[in-house]
Amino acid sequence: MVVVMKEDATREQIQNVIARLMEENFDVHQSTGVSRTIIGAIGEKRGLDTRKIAILDGVHEVLRITEPYKLASRTFHPDNTVIRIGEVAIGGDEVVVMAGPCSVESEEQIDRIAAEVSRAGAKILRGGAFKPRTSPYSFQGLGEEGLRLLREAADRHGLLAVSEGMDRSKIDVVAEYADILQVGARNMQNYDLLRELGKIRKPVLLKRGMSATIEETLMSAEYIMSGGNYEVILCERGIRTFEQYTRNTMDISAIPVFQKLSHLPVIADPSHGTGIRDKVAPLARAAVAAGANGLMIEVHHEPECALSDGAQSLYPEQFVRLMQECGIIAEAIGKRLPQSRPVAAAGS
Ligand code: PEP
Ligand code: MN
Repeated sequence: MVVVMKEDATREQIQNVIARLMEENFDVHQSTGVSRTIIGAIGEKRGLDTRKIAILDGVHEVLRITEPYKLASRTFHPDNTVIRIGEVAIGGDEVVVMAGPCSVESEEQIDRIAAEVSRAGAKILRGGAFKPRTSPYSFQGLGEEGLRLLREAADRHGLLAVSEGMDRSKIDVVAEYADILQVGARNMQNYDLLRELGKIRKPVLLKRGMSATIEETLMSAEYIMSGGNYEVILCERGIRTFEQYTRNTMDISAIPVFQKLSHLPVIADPSHGTGIRDKVAPLARAAVAAGANGLMIEVHHEPECALSDGAQSLYPEQFVRLMQECGIIAEAIGKRLPQSRPVAAAGS
C-alpha cells in the first residue's frame, strides 16, 4: 500500500507513520516528491484495516497498489524519477544519448569512437567488456582491461560510461569503472544478479528480455529496487516475434506503456532492436517521437571490422545526422537533445 502524506506533513508525522508501518512488519520505502512525501509499505500483510493508518496525523490518503510491482509503479511515485549522474539527468526534459561500440576492442578504437560520439552530443559512452555472445567461439570481450579503456576514453572526452556486468561476480569490477551498470537482455530474469544490483548505489540500465512482457520487465526492476537501489533505467531493445526480416522487433509501443505504468526513465536501443544499420535511424527517431528519455546507439568507425555487432553499428557521420534529426523531433515534443559540443582543448 501507499501512504500519501499531506503537503504540510511534518517530519515527526512522517516518522510516526513509518514507525506504525514497521510495527505491522511492513518493509517501508520513503519517496519524497516535489510537493509531498509518499511512503510505500510492502509486505504480505493482509487484512490490515488501512483506516488505522489513514487516521494518523499528517496522512492525506492510503492507496492499495494493485500492481504486482510496487516500488516501480507510478502509484508509489507519481513524479518521473530523474537520475542524476554528474551533470547528466536521465528522465527529465533532455533526451540523453548513450553511444559507442558494441564491444571495447582496443585503446585506439574506443578513443576514436568516444571522440566522435562526444562531439556529436552523446553524454554517455557505451562499450561492452564482458560480452554475452550467442556462440562461445565469438569474441567474449576484453574483461577488466576493456573496462579500464572505456573509463579512460570516457574521461578524456567528457563522457559518462555504461557497461554490462554478466553475473554477480562481475558487479564490483564493473561498478569500479562504469557510472551505469547494464543488465543485458539475456540476464533480465537472473534474479541473483538483480538482487545483488539492489545492494549497490549506482544506476542500473535494465534491458527488457527478448521474450519478456512489460510486466515481467517491471518485476525485474522491482527486484533491484526492493534491495534499496531505486536508480533503474528501463531499456526497450526489441523483442522476439515471428518476423525474420529484422533481428528483433522494436516495440515502440512499450515506451509510452512503461511510462504510464512506471515512474522510471525509459530509453530505447534500436541497434539491437533492429539489428540492421539502415533501420536504426528510423526507429531511433520513432523512439524519440514516442517519448523515450534516451537512446542507446551502437557506433563504430570501421563497422566492417568490428568484433561484434558491426552490421547494426552506425558510421560516425550517420550518428551525427541522427543526432540532428532527433534534436528536431525532441524539440517538437517539448524536449531537448543538445548536439555537438565544443571540442575540449588539447590536454584538457
Ligand atoms: C549490448 O548492449 O551490446 C547487448 C548485448 O545488448 P542486449 O543484452 O540487449 O542483447
Ligand atoms: Mn551489441
